[in-house]
Amino acid sequence: MSLSEKGIIDRIRRHSQSGSAELLLGIGDDCAVIKRGRGLVELVTTDTLVEKVHFDLAWHPPELLGRKAAAVNLSDVAAMGGRSRYCLLSLALPLGFAESWLDQFMAGFLAALTEHGALLIGGDTVKSVGGYVISVTVMGEAPEAEILLRSAARPGDLIMVSGPLGNAAAGLEICRRGLGCEKDSWRQLIAAHLDPTPETVLGRILAESGLVNGMMDLSDGLATDLAHLCCESGVAAEIDGGLLPIADNLRDAAEALGCEPMSWALSGGEDYRLLLTVPAVNSEKLQEIVRRELGREIVPVGRIVNGKGVVLIDGAKRLDISYHGYDHFI
Ligand code: ADP
Ligand code: MG
Repeated sequence: MSLSEKGIIDRIRRHSQSGSAELLLGIGDDCAVIKRGRGLVELVTTDTLVEKVHFDLAWHPPELLGRKAAAVNLSDVAAMGGRSRYCLLSLALPLGFAESWLDQFMAGFLAALTEHGALLIGGDTVKSVGGYVISVTVMGEAPEAEILLRSAARPGDLIMVSGPLGNAAAGLEICRRGLGCEKDSWRQLIAAHLDPTPETVLGRILAESGLVNGMMDLSDGLATDLAHLCCESGVAAEIDGGLLPIADNLRDAAEALGCEPMSWALSGGEDYRLLLTVPAVNSEKLQEIVRRELGREIVPVGRIVNGKGVVLIDGAKRLDISYHGYDHFI
């Protein structure tokens, strides 16, 4: 049997070198954390998008693909509570790619970086004998005292998310079936897949509040990402199926396409919302801050408990859903 994505990363982690005094955190979180002067830390993250694995040029306009390649990395810095500053872009391009594709891709990529305060400072360009490969590294910063880690969830915390779940998975399914923007209400779902918004402003607000314990972004689906968070924190989680924020337009699309809304919400990847754990006594105060600053809601979906794994409570049923999200290798 081949290793899962987590199995591969765990194996790489076992091979990795011993740290340095400056390296506060290596493999295991959304970003590596390196100590700098004046109470600041540097945050570093990288993510790769591969044609036919992460995107399909048949329906992904180059400008939006550029935005997404930036967004998935900006999201990892936001998930630590940091501010993105600098960026490297590496491209593997097939011979004969269209110059107009590159121009539109770059327009989207740079627009997204600019919106979130980051500058392109370098990268690498090579020929691909397969499809397009886009690899991005983002460096950011944060006050050391404010960074939010996957390893800091504690039993008794409420598990909260920063928006509806499963929209990107629904949008992908709509695109896959070639349905495009047939219905107005689907436009938002398609946009969630093609052009996700990193939670940069919210990430800083949550970090500055001092009211949050653990945090990460949702890239592989709640079931898998929460399992990562639990693993890093040495705790377990219970999700209450009735509390999952599932948008009306997602239910509508699920019915039209014969899909299960709950399965999109739990296992669909690429929502790039924040997943956070909050001591129960802090939750209302935090919700008030987010409402006041952004006019948005962060919603509780369950609780952190002692033990191992992620359980979905759905009526009288208790189902183990650990790692039931996207995995590149299984
Ligand atoms: P994310 O979903 O936020 O991009 P991943 O699940 O890809 O995070 O990675 C989890 C952790 O494993 C991160 O700290 C990442 O830097 C590290 N990691 C992933 N792949 C590798 C690799 N090939 N070599 C070293 N570290 C890796
Ligand atoms: Mg991440």
